[in-house]
Formats: sequence, structure tokens, C-alpha cells
Amino acid sequence: MNDYVSSLMEGVKAKNPAEPEFHQAVQEVAESLSIVLERHPEYRAARIFERIIEPERVVMFRVPWTDDQGKVQINRGFRIEMNSAIGPYKGGLRFHPSVNLGILKFLAFEQVFKNSLTTLPMGGGKGGSDFDPKGKSDHEVMRFCQSFMTELSRHIGPDTDVPAGDIGVGGREIGYLFGQYKRLRNEFTGVLTGKGLNWGGSLIRPEATGYGAVYFAAEMLSTRHQTLDGKVCLVSGSGNVAQYTVEKLLEMGARAVTLSDSSGYVYDEAGVDGDKLAFLMELKNVRRGRIKEYADRYKGVVYAPLDAPQDHNPLWDHAADGAFPMAPQNEINGKDAANLLRNGVQVVAEGANMPTDLDGVMQFLQAGILYGPGKAANAGGVAVSGLEMAQNSMRFAWTREEVDHRLRLIMKSIHLSCVQTAERFGRPGNYVDGANIAGFLKVADAMMDQGVV
Ligand code: NAP
Repeated sequence: MNDYVSSLMEGVKAKNPAEPEFHQAVQEVAESLSIVLERHPEYRAARIFERIIEPERVVMFRVPWTDDQGKVQINRGFRIEMNSAIGPYKGGLRFHPSVNLGILKFLAFEQVFKNSLTTLPMGGGKGGSDFDPKGKSDHEVMRFCQSFMTELSRHIGPDTDVPAGDIGVGGREIGYLFGQYKRLRNEFTGVLTGKGLNWGGSLIRPEATGYGAVYFAAEMLSTRHQTLDGKVCLVSGSGNVAQYTVEKLLEMGARAVTLSDSSGYVYDEAGVDGDKLAFLMELKNVRRGRIKEYADRYKGVVYAPLDAPQDHNPLWDHAADGAFPMAPQNEINGKDAANLLRNGVQVVAEGANMPTDLDGVMQFLQAGILYGPGKAANAGGVAVSGLEMAQNSMRFAWTREEVDHRLRLIMKSIHLSCVQTAERFGRPGNYVDGANIAGFLKVADAMMDQGVV
């Protein structure tokens, strides 16, 4: 760590105590930006990065609701409006018991750079609640969403802040949230993305993050004259992003051999085929069951429950060519990264946000493998959210082919921008620096133009 980064981090830790994920995300970007701030003293003088790490606004609120037994429940709601230099705040909502201020601040911070990389005019934000939709009835989820939106509706709008889904917030939750917003404001606008197709949603939005991550992996491989065809891939998670990652991997001739949820993981050496994927989608999206049922259903599949005290995640300890972490943050630590490298992994594309800790990232970079950080590799989701906003403004809907084509072009352009920026700043092949620097430059220039605000 150089002097600038260590003194910045001292301040960040003092001012934002007990937010380790936020510290981690800021440190990674600060390390990439040192060289930019050396070459551009004007950014340093205007304290652009110091302003970027301070949210423009944080809203924290009580979310009271009544469960099916008539008992009053109380959760905490958040919206972090991080940066609006290049467009309205944009970023998902996460409903998960682990949600706290620090996690949402790291996600909102990452979102600023990611949204900038997409080339679309979107600022960065993130929000959510410590509410756990797992095990709740549809009515309970609806009552919670209505209470959450009753407060959130005061702070968002199609030209102000446009939330979307994330962990625990899928089509069902977006529907309840949108319904309540419309009822409160008496207006039908594109205030949320990830909407249903017959009420303003975009084709390919559910698929976008997973497809985009696979497109990004294909772009990275093409720099070494390789394709995904025949590659064995480890995938974590089994939610929205994981499902469409597996679908696109299959389409590109690769074999996904693992899936997981917060209870455990399955190893399916034969690979997830179309029938198994349909079973998984029904299991997770309709019956809302556990991944263990996949192993109960198919012969030759091994299930291992999650063993929290272990110092590594056994999912990452199988022979493979590629790794696609698609679940929570920090699920690849230094030991996992070492296992992946030892097992022959050549390409990592992060569909999840910050799934690799700083030690793991360092090992991937030192090994010189193709490592696509989440900011770049999972930007397809928010990119198609941006396309959903554009379609809503035009009151028009593009075809599936049109949206998929645009997604593919955006992922190509993000990839190129990472590669060219990394080269320009003397770090060829380093997608972490490429993504952080390219994402920063656009936001920094907009902030310079707009004065001290
Ligand atoms: P999702 O549909 O809710 O799926 C989340 C998956 O992660 C589930 O399989 C869940 O298992 C698993 N998971 C959650 N906590 C876990 C833990 N502590 N250990 C192991 N597994 C855990 O959410 P998603 O939209 O696919 O999001 C997945 C990741 O992609 C997140 O990091 C998110 O921030 C990122 N992302 C999503 C989008 C998007 O468009 N949705 C865009 C960019 C990035 P359980 O069912 O057991 O909880």
C-alpha cells in the first residue's frame, strides 16, 4: 500500500467503523487509482475520490409489517444514493438477513464504477433490507414490500433514483414494490427495472447478468485465441444470475459442474444439461426449495452441506477451466484462489459483487489468469436495466434479439475499455485496474465539470 492509499484508508476506517466490506471495496479501487491521481493532480486537488467515497445521501428507515400470525415484525430499510454525476442513481435492492449499512455502501460504491463502464447515463445507488424472504408466504412478502415502498417512494423516481433487484429481490418482489409505488404516486413510470414483460419490463433483463458474465468470459478468452467450447466450469449460487450463467455456458458448449445455495453445494460431474436446468429453475423460482433436492433427484451428483468453520469453500476445489462465482461477496478467499489455480482454472468471471477477497484477487493477478472482476463482468444486468429505462421513456419495446445484441455489444465495449485503459496506465492484462480506472475517469470528469457539489 502506498502513502496515499494508507492515509486514505486510515480516514475511511475511522469515519466508517465496522464496515469491513466497504473498506475492502474502497481499498481495491484506491490502489488502482494511485497512478491516475499521480498523472492527474487536478483530480487530487478537487478531492474527487474523497467525494466519491462519501455517499450523496443515505436513507435508513423502519419497515413495520404484520406476519400471517398477526404478529408485528420490524425490519430496517436502506437506500444509499452514492453518486449522480452521470445520471440518476441506479442499483439493486437486496433483501437478506446479512444486509447492513456497510454491505450496501460497498455495493453502492461498486455500482458507481460499474454503471459508468456500461456507457449508459446512470449514477450509482443500492438499497435493501435485512428482511429474509425465505420461508415467508407470498402475502407476507407482499405486506413487507408494501411497507418498504411506502417510505422508499419518497426518495426515488424515474429521473431521480431507479432501483432494481438483487439477492432476494426477483420478479415477485419487484411486482409488489411497483404496485405500491403506483398506488401511492398515482403514476405509471419506469421507477423500477426488472419489471414484468406486460407492465414495462424488458426482454432479456432476467437473463442479462448471467449472459453478460459469460459474454465477458468469452471476450477474455478470445484475447488468448480460446473459446468456452468444451471448458469445465465451476458455478456458485443457484439464483437468477447462476441460472442464466449455466444456460449461456451450455449454449456456448461449456459444462457447468457445480451449483450452490446458502445450505450447501452440488457437484455434478456429468454437467447441468437443459433438463436439469429446467428442474433447477422450477425448484428455485417456483417451489423455492433447497439445492440438495438436485442431488436427490439426479444419480451421480454429490451434495455437501455448507460447513461454516472450514477455512475454504470445497466448491472451488475441483478440477476446472473456469470459475463463475454467482452468489454472495467474499466467497473466494486466498485459500480458495490457490485451490482454483492448482486445479487449472484459467478464467474467472464474477457475476456476483466482490466475491473474491483482496488476497484472492492478488493471487489471480499474480498468476496472470484471465480474471474479470464483478464491476466489469456483471455489468450486463444494469446495462439491460438501462435499456429497460430507455424503452420505458420511448414507450416502446425492443425484441429479444435486439436487446441481446445490444447486451453483447455493451459487454464487448466494457471488455475493450478495460483492456485499453489497463494498457494506457501500464498494467496490460489487468482487468481490475482497467475496470476501476475506466469507470472512475468518466465519473471524475463529470464531477470536475459540475463543480464542488
Ligand atoms: P438470488 O437470485 O437471490 O440468488 C442468490 C444466490 O446466492 C442463491 O443461490 C443464494 O442461496 C445464494 N447465497 C446467498 N447467500 C449465500 C451465502 N451466504 N452462501 C452461499 N450462497 C448464498 O440473487 P442474484 O440476483 O442471483 O444475485 C447473485 C449475485 O449476483 C449477488 O452477488 C448480486 O449482488 C450479484 N448481481 C446480481 C445482479 C442481478 O441482476 N440480479 C446484477 C449484478 C450483480 P439461498 O437461496 O440459500 O439464499
